Amino acid sequence: MSRPGFGLEFLVRRVPRPGDAGSVALVGAGPGDPDLLTVRALRALERAEVVVYDRLVSAGILAMVPHGAARVDVGKAPGRSAMTQPRINALLLEAARAGWRVVRLKGGDPMVFGRGGEELEYLRRHGIAVEVVPGITAATGCAAAAGIPLTHRDVAHSAVLVAGQLAQGAEEPDWAALARPGQTVVVYMGVRTAGRIAQALIAAGRPPHTPVAIIENGTRPDQRVVPATLGTLAAVVTEAAIRNPALLVVGEVAALARTGGADAVSEKRISA
Ligand code: SAH
Repeated sequence: MSRPGFGLEFLVRRVPRPGDAGSVALVGAGPGDPDLLTVRALRALERAEVVVYDRLVSAGILAMVPHGAARVDVGKAPGRSAMTQPRINALLLEAARAGWRVVRLKGGDPMVFGRGGEELEYLRRHGIAVEVVPGITAATGCAAAAGIPLTHRDVAHSAVLVAGQLAQGAEEPDWAALARPGQTVVVYMGVRTAGRIAQALIAAGRPPHTPVAIIENGTRPDQRVVPATLGTLAAVVTEAAIRNPALLVVGEVAALARTGGADAVSEKRISA
């Protein structure tokens, strides 16, 4: 059911339903725990006839997709690559034009580092009705699960969300702005580049002892919260064998994290 390409071929063979205009809902699935889906997201899922989803969408959430709905997996999996963005766009358009109620399900919030903006633009340009259903983004979901306040009256007056994918030759982020004191920096997609990010923040003035919390599989049963500092980040990522999805929270607030695996977190939650 979930081979890439399956969905498109399947849909093209279906006869469009006359007079029934299709639509697309760009729905945020949150960071993984099904309890963190919004009521609106759940309602959209329950009405969905076609669900197009990414690798980041957890099994618990996919279990909520109606049995009769077509599911299309467009994410990467071992042994095969992800469907390209133009193909995903074409698939969404095709399905909506065929008259289906389509849910484009994305991890976290669809408009935060999720290419939701590109899909929205493309579909609108082609005259498709699009609704955006926000989701709990990894920054707030993982921070809550780890017991980290992203802002704090004493130590963090702002929080910024940045993508850690530092493409070769691409423009460098404004490190001086990111290294400002009293600011929490939340890094998405930063596992591979953690060492370079830490070095750049230190070079721009953030002290090496600045706390960092690494949150792997945040809100999921296998969540791990691993403490580090900017100075130790690269070594800790390697030693703890951090795997995606993982989020880096940099700043004084990270020292407030409840560290450890899911068991440690839930034990502390119960005793708190
Ligand atoms: N739209 C998503 C982000 C997509 S980018 C959102 O709003 O959350 C993918 C990155 O998100 C991952 O590389 C990781 O840094 C982060 N991420 C998403 N879910 C996560 C989770 N459950 N735990 C830790 N990081 C997560």
